[in-house]
Amino acid sequence: PAQIETRKRAVLKDVFGFDRFRPGQQEVVDAVLAGTPTLAVMPTGAGKSLCYQLPALVLGGLSIVVSPLIALMDDQVAALKLEGVAAEAIHSGRSREDNVAAWRRVTSGETRLLYMAPERLLTERMMSALLRLKLGLIAIDEAHCISQWGHSFRAEYLGLGRLREAFPDVPLVALTATADLGTRTDIVDRLFGGSAKVFISGFDRPNIFIGVEEKRRPAEQIERFVRERAGSAGIVYRISRKKVEETASALCAAGIRALPYHAGMSIEARQANQEAFLAEPGIVMVATVAFGMGIDKSDVRYVIHGDAPGTLEAYYQEIGRAGRDGQPSEALLLYGLEDIQTRRRFIEEEASEPERKRVEARRLDSMVGFCEAVTCRRAVLLGYFGERAGPCGHCDVCRNPPRVVDASKSAQLALRI
Ligand code: ADP
Ligand code: MG
Ligand code: ZN
Repeated sequence: PAQIETRKRAVLKDVFGFDRFRPGQQEVVDAVLAGTPTLAVMPTGAGKSLCYQLPALVLGGLSIVVSPLIALMDDQVAALKLEGVAAEAIHSGRSREDNVAAWRRVTSGETRLLYMAPERLLTERMMSALLRLKLGLIAIDEAHCISQWGHSFRAEYLGLGRLREAFPDVPLVALTATADLGTRTDIVDRLFGGSAKVFISGFDRPNIFIGVEEKRRPAEQIERFVRERAGSAGIVYRISRKKVEETASALCAAGIRALPYHAGMSIEARQANQEAFLAEPGIVMVATVAFGMGIDKSDVRYVIHGDAPGTLEAYYQEIGRAGRDGQPSEALLLYGLEDIQTRRRFIEEEASEPERKRVEARRLDSMVGFCEAVTCRRAVLLGYFGERAGPCGHCDVCRNPPRVVDASKSAQLALRI
């Protein structure tokens, strides 16, 4: 054990060049090294790869990594090679000769990490070939793909449930950024047969001040907030294209450099606005949820939600676009019951299974719970993701704790439903 501890530190420093683990990483690494079936839930960018790459190198032998996308595999393999780690990807995007050459290096014992898509791993030929090799561990990246509740379900992932029986002595670790309870339960059931150690960490973004305001006159509320932060880059999310256009025009009329972004615009116009937002300082992007995926701008100072999102997952992801540089940033949500009712109607009118609707409705309830929280807003948010936290001191509730809960007002609001 002392030896493993030393190896761990050495690999962290010498191979990856890091002085310390990030929050949550060490716990996962230790569990994997102990052979415990492990599910690690950490947001994007938190450092999930290290949680299986480091144990793979400490354990030795060949480790298998399952990944759903060729681009993700190539990216990881390239990064590992830069660190001097023998890694390979075998996939349909490479020529047959390249795949054969890679496989030869694998069987020669050179390779430490081998990336594959589930459908290739699960072929009889591959499984029996791997049974003859000494395996370090098996890692399932983007493990939420095994769950039908998420939006990235992949039927091929279902077959991965066979792995624990085919390789009973090989440590199995799954990783995902999707943290809701339904998805977590699905992963543990389908991949681990019902029991695994689950670690959730890294969701806190302490530099973001979280606030919720009652929605009264959203146009004025948004304009005031933006004006008080003139010169800073920000994102204003609105629920519809029409509201995006209205809000962007209103801000422009007030002399603020605001640009719209939604799926109803031409690709060229969208791209031009996105590029301006990335390149020039102090632009306010007014957008629907179509904006943000893969946007890497580190100095976004605030994210305003002019309308409440339908889930805390979406909310968390969207506010996470603020303050990537770690500098103080803000999230403001305008909360109006009408919006929640509209969302509820959307869910009811959706042409989906009743069980799916129930899940969506429950997610919306959690959103309402967050908006109406009378305890630390961040603790409620992190609690939703399964992460425990005390009062943060850096949200509107912590700053201004409600002295009395005005029951008559809640009752009035409830009657308006
Ligand atoms: P995820 O898969 O969770 O989205 P990655 O594994 O791709 O995240 O890691 C994101 C970034 O964090 C990478 O650039 C990685 O090198 C870096 N990183 C991971 N662990 C550490 C650490 N302990 N110290 C510093 N940087 C780290
Ligand atoms: Mg990752
Ligand atoms: Zn707080």
